[in-house]
Amino acid sequence: MSVAIEGIDAKALPERSVGAAMRAGMRGRCPSCGKGSLFSAYLKVRDTCPACGEALHHQRADDAPPYFTITLVGHIVVPGLLLMERFLAPPMWVQAAIWLPATVILSLLLLPPIKGALIGLQWANYMHGFDPRQDSSDGDIGWESAPENTTAG
Ligand SMILES: [Zn+2]
Repeated sequence: MSVAIEGIDAKALPERSVGAAMRAGMRGRCPSCGKGSLFSAYLKVRDTCPACGEALHHQRADDAPPYFTITLVGHIVVPGLLLMERFLAPPMWVQAAIWLPATVILSLLLLPPIKGALIGLQWANYMHGFDPRQDSSDGDIGWESAPENTTAG
């Protein structure tokens, strides 16, 4: 399956499987080879794949992983809380004792696979610096090629 991204002529490049790349990323593996680990820490993406050498620093997952995580966790926790209230009506502290930790734990568990899947999606569609035809010094306004960051410090 291929997803057309506006502005990118993906026809000129070999087609990459979006599903396979997203599944590899979801497992915390390199979207290219599926073997090397994608993360060097909890959410820290490696610069290159330790197995195949694929450059991974081009990823621009940014705030998409928390966005999808919040959406998913909200759709689990809110109905769960409401159903429990409707059918069991436990005291408020019981609801809080269940759903507050569930929200935190689910979010922490879902963030890495969602981030990995999004990086796989970007890699498979040659997005950002993953497009080999794209000169990293123009077009992609990634942090490493952006002008001096004047807001830092
Ligand atoms: Zn790899």
